[in-house]
Order: sequence, then C-alpha cells, then structure tokens
Amino acid sequence: MKNTSTEIKEEDLSPQEIAEATESTTDVSKCPTCGANLVYSPTDKTLMCEYCGYSKKIDFTNLGEEKSFSELLKTDNSWAEDARVFVCNNCGARQVLSKNEISVKCSFCGTTNVVEKNDILGLKPNALLPFLLDSAAAGNHARTWAKKRWLAPRSFKKSVNPENIHGNYIPAFTFDSLIKTHYEGRLGKDHTVTVRVNGKTVTRTETKWFHVSGYFEHFFNDVLIQASDSISQKSINKISPFDTDHSQQYKNEFLHGFTASQYSKDGETCWKEAKGVMQNATRNMILSKYDYDRVDYLNFPMSYEAITYKYLLLPIYVGHFNFRQKLYNFFVNGQNGKVTGKTPLSPLRVGLLVLLGLVAAAGIVALIIINGGF
Ligand SMILES: [Zn+2]
Ligand SMILES: [Zn+2]
Repeated sequence: MKNTSTEIKEEDLSPQEIAEATESTTDVSKCPTCGANLVYSPTDKTLMCEYCGYSKKIDFTNLGEEKSFSELLKTDNSWAEDARVFVCNNCGARQVLSKNEISVKCSFCGTTNVVEKNDILGLKPNALLPFLLDSAAAGNHARTWAKKRWLAPRSFKKSVNPENIHGNYIPAFTFDSLIKTHYEGRLGKDHTVTVRVNGKTVTRTETKWFHVSGYFEHFFNDVLIQASDSISQKSINKISPFDTDHSQQYKNEFLHGFTASQYSKDGETCWKEAKGVMQNATRNMILSKYDYDRVDYLNFPMSYEAITYKYLLLPIYVGHFNFRQKLYNFFVNGQNGKVTGKTPLSPLRVGLLVLLGLVAAAGIVALIIINGGF
C-alpha cells in the first residue's frame, strides 16, 4: 500500500534515507568508511578521504546572498557552533578551524606552537569563495613568481614548494550601494601664452578656471574590504580580482582541511573603509567627465542607498619563509593563482646590482667625456 501521509515516520525510511537525513543535520566531517577526517578537494569539488579514497560531492548550487545593512550591526557568536580559534605562540596569527580538526601547524610561520583559545568567534560568514586550485597548483604559481624575484636569495626560491604553502580563508566584507550626489566645484584648464616682456618673447602657462555642477549616481557592486590583520588590503588588491559575484553560501564543509583567519575588523569599521573607496571612485568618475588640468575644489556630498553586504571568506594560499630571523609571507589567490608578497633581499645579489649600476654610471660618464661633454 502506498503511504499517502505527509508525516514521515523514521520506520518508513530505508537505512540509506536515514543516513542521508542524519547527514544533513550533523557534521559530515568524518569518513563513513574509515572514520578519518574528510578534507575539501578543490580540484574535484568534493569532500574527500585521503586514506581510503571515499568522496562525496559538495553542492555548489547555493550562491552567497546579499544581506541587508540592518543586519550588519548584529552581534552573535554563531560561528562558534562550527569552528574554534587557535593562536600561534610564535607569530600571533589567530586561525579558525573546523570544530573536529586540531591544528598542527601555523599557516603563517610553520611552527607547531599553536594552542586553542576560548575566543568569541562572532558572526558566522554568510558566503565563501571556495578554493579552486589545490596546493600543488598554488605552489607552481608561487614558484614562477619567485623565479622572477631577482634580488631574492636562492634559498628563498628553493623554499617555495607546496609543503610550505597552506590554504587559509581570509574574512572580508563586500558592500553594494547606490550612491547619489549633487556636486559642485571649480576646475582649471592650462594653456600657454606667448607675451613680450621688455622686448623678449616669453611663454608661460596660464589657467582658465571654470565651474562645474550636476547630478551623479552610480551603483557600486561588491566593494571588497578585508577584515583580518593577517594580510594587508594592499596585498588583497594585488591578487584581486576575487569572483565575489559567484560566492557560495557558507558551509562548514569548505573549511575541512583548511584554516580561516579570525576577523579583527567588524562590519562597521569595514563599511567606513568601503565608503572611503566609494568616495574616491566617485570623485574620479565625476572628474573624468571634464577636460581639466587642475582641481580647485569639488564638493560631492553622497547619499548611500540600497546598502547590502556579504561577510565572506576569500581563498588564499599562505606561504612562509624565514631568512635571517625574519618571517616573510607570500600569498596566492586560491582561484586565479595570482601571487604577491615581500621577499628577502640577498646581500650578494644587491651588491652585484650596485656594482653593475656603478659600472654603468662610469660608462656613461666616460661616454660624455669622449663626446666632449663637461
Ligand atoms: Zn576513509
Ligand atoms: Zn605562526
């Protein structure tokens, strides 16, 4: 007989269905076959067991949603349900790990001197950009980049390998807003005039000033502001873009086998920074409508409408290298492979460069002398 009741009792379900129902409500971080921790595999977009080969597809159909601005100031500690914080006693990095994992190594300095802290984790991210490159691919990008650092010591270039690179999610906010402004300002255009002064012809630059005013509006989509101390905004910009339009809804699964950095800037602070970015961009967009050489002043009081945000995690491979007791980090975008970072300078190579410079300078001086200069 067919069961027409809408209420499904547990005894009506097959063991397979019960397992699936349980899976969707509990943490699925353990391998059902051998019990090992599952890790997120960027290359085949699955949760994978590195020991027995079990794998389970991750649902990639839920895109990260924009949240309304009123939710930005909400405080809760909901992320603590999925994750916990570990602090590195060596470099101070604060990393977030999925609840069932224990950190053995710090992503930022490579030491194992890492302890769990009973920290407030705060708001759970609502979106995430999954890693699309695995650490081997990230290592290849980093190696190509390192080869081009001519002044870095050979030992640095050699140290760039996948074992020294770890996938770490960096928390960030993106903001959308429709801005409107009635602007008004005074701009100047230069031109040269030729006049005769005391019988001599003199050319000089004069500026013709003119007033501008008008209405301007623009919709900003996903202005990205990073929210942790672990990496600078400058470094984030250098390895951008991040495909924030196609972020996924945050799922704990993506964290398995990876770490995240704890956020240190709250949504309000990041929104202030985003407003600064929007103001600079708006000023440039208004000015680009005019032919000018100088700005006397430009007033453009802005209103911000339809503000939404995403609090999301960005996929970044972190590499580290110690040179003369100093820690150097480099960063690889976990989606497009772009690399940035500071590298140590090899005294030998810098010395050679200076020497080359001196030789070149001496050569130029010699040429000038030969050609009858001085
Ligand atoms: Zn297994
Ligand atoms: Zn560390």
